[in-house]
Amino acid sequence: MRAESGAALRNRIVELANETLTAPLQPDEHESWGLGPGHAQTAEEIMDVIDKGNYGGSRTGRFWTLDPIDGTKGFLRGEQYAVCLALIVDSRVELGVIGCPNLPTSSSSPDERGCVFVAVRNQGAYQLPLSASSPTLPIKLTIPTFSQDTLNLLESVEKAHAKLSFNERVAEVLGVKRAPTRMDSQAKYGALVRGDGGVYLRMPTGTGYREKIWDHAPGAVLVEEAGGVITDSRGQPLDFGLGRTLGENFGVVAAGKEVHSRVLEAVKKAKEEGN
Ligand code: AMP
Ligand code: MG
Repeated sequence: MRAESGAALRNRIVELANETLTAPLQPDEHESWGLGPGHAQTAEEIMDVIDKGNYGGSRTGRFWTLDPIDGTKGFLRGEQYAVCLALIVDSRVELGVIGCPNLPTSSSSPDERGCVFVAVRNQGAYQLPLSASSPTLPIKLTIPTFSQDTLNLLESVEKAHAKLSFNERVAEVLGVKRAPTRMDSQAKYGALVRGDGGVYLRMPTGTGYREKIWDHAPGAVLVEEAGGVITDSRGQPLDFGLGRTLGENFGVVAAGKEVHSRVLEAVKKAKEEGN
């Protein structure tokens, strides 16, 4: 973006960033944050800020991982997307936040939209409304148990991101009766921890793509703090200490404890059948 060939994109990004930076202050914003009329930045300043996101990750130490728009395809379709942030310390996710502006606050109130899921290691998993006109207490979340009749799969909308035909076979092996719930982004982790779905299953499509840490770190601590288990499809722990990707981790399985072990067995069987 600094090269002359990137001038058109650079100018557009600087223009859009400054439009937001210089917009009139919202009631809960402060000029000391560098916001408001008169706070436009130069292209150099904006590119320096963008470059602060270049850290490659590490086995030891403390860093944040951010996905400003997770599920861009869902965002463009006007469906689900999420703003996701996690704090990783010595390869372990200590804090995760998943903001879902378009997700109904509960499956029983489809018209009230916008929720935030928050989890801090050893302090539980919570849901808050994204915009509360009056102060609202966070709801503590625990993954419920599922019966054979209520169990369902949460999965990607995009066929290029996950092997949905494999999920179909796993559902058959498990005797799942309900259709899968397809949803973009880490909103799936939010849906899982509040019991909208019984398992989040993500199987690689076979392209050699490696999952990115920012697509799973907030969800991982959220699931564990809601009493669930998250591993790859072979039962290995997700490794957030390898850099920007989850390395050799193969897919993701997240669910309550009992469902999780049944899903791992079903994945193994579906693999042995050659799926
Ligand atoms: P989802 O909405 O759950 O399908 O996941 C969205 C995320 O999938 C994006 O943030 C991408 O980083 C990621 N992604 C992109 N390409 C692939 C791929 N080939 N396999 C798996 N995930 C991918
Ligand atoms: Mg993403």
